[in-house]
Amino acid sequence: MSWQYGRIAVFNRINRNMPSSPNAVTPEHLLRQEVLALHAYHAPAGTGMVKLDAMENPYVLPQELCAEIGNVVADAPFNRYPDAAARSLKEKIRAVTDLPQGTELLLGNGSDEIIQLLALAVNKPGAVLLGVEPSFVMYRMIAAFTGMQYVGVPLTEDFALDLQALLDAIRRQRPALVFLAYPNNPTGSLFDADAIAQVVAATPGLVVVDEAYYAFTEASFIPRLADFPNLLVMRTFSKLGMAGLRLGYLAGARRWLEQLEKLRLPYNVGVLPQQVAEILLEHHGVLMLQARQIKEDRAWLYDRLVGTVDVRAYPSDANFILFRVSHAGKVFEGLKQRGILIKNLHGAHPALDHCLRVTVGTPEQNQQFMAALQESIHQSV
Ligand code: PMP
Repeated sequence: MSWQYGRIAVFNRINRNMPSSPNAVTPEHLLRQEVLALHAYHAPAGTGMVKLDAMENPYVLPQELCAEIGNVVADAPFNRYPDAAARSLKEKIRAVTDLPQGTELLLGNGSDEIIQLLALAVNKPGAVLLGVEPSFVMYRMIAAFTGMQYVGVPLTEDFALDLQALLDAIRRQRPALVFLAYPNNPTGSLFDADAIAQVVAATPGLVVVDEAYYAFTEASFIPRLADFPNLLVMRTFSKLGMAGLRLGYLAGARRWLEQLEKLRLPYNVGVLPQQVAEILLEHHGVLMLQARQIKEDRAWLYDRLVGTVDVRAYPSDANFILFRVSHAGKVFEGLKQRGILIKNLHGAHPALDHCLRVTVGTPEQNQQFMAALQESIHQSV
């Protein structure tokens, strides 16, 4: 009798708002409020356009390298699961990264997956994920869909860290997880390293310095991993020319990474991404040369933007530039009509009012962009 009663009580609690028939059930009945409130990450296809919206490397690979990849793909053992520990790939990553002794690696299907894994690991009831605003939107989105509380500390007007505000927020919120993109997306700014060090020292939880754009700056927190017990550095190969492979990594002390490994789905990096990334990392120099070219062209593009009427451009240490115009919507549409796709950030955050973000392309693409931008601005005012 009491067993029956208990069963019905639990049933009623779970199903209070549930319709009795599967035909009547809607997402509103079933899904968590946080999920219903989210907007899906939107990425336009950009087919047939000059695609300067997603921080991709615009260059193709040399012919010989493509042929080498073709041979490996032809012989790839698709019938087998990939190496769950990705031993060989990790060795290749270590060969091109100066990791302090004792640093471990965890691989992700893109670094997006690593952000999610970190949030899943720490989201005890009430746990806080702290970021700065504006920054990479996935920190906030992943906090929402893993059920963490999100706290966003505004950057200063010129998109630097507001150290005092951050330290105050850390003292009040005791975050379990802090994300700082270094350089930051979408602002391109490289935060002050001493300020970041103070944030790491003041945080009771883990601080992840997200170096997605490491290839376009000299600065890095990897050499400082040994200085802070709660510091992790995350990187991705997406911006270096492997966005389609989906490969990112987290570097840090064993005591953290061996726990986080338990949450990683065993085969999250497939046979193809592992094998192709290995070849590309053997030719890391080729990709870094492309990155160096992109850095030079960033300087060209920045100078042109600064010299353009109605444009305020922000300095960038990444492979994109944020700029503000008077009528972002009109300029964005004008560029689109001229076959150029960039990112319209107007509406994404109050600090990004009338802001647009352009990825540095090839010199030809950058010239096409600048010509189209001038026409679009002319038309918009
Ligand atoms: N971190 C930052 C700061 C980013 O800008 C991005 C992508 N735009 C990512 C992480 C995610 O990159 P991926 O999932 O391709 O590794």
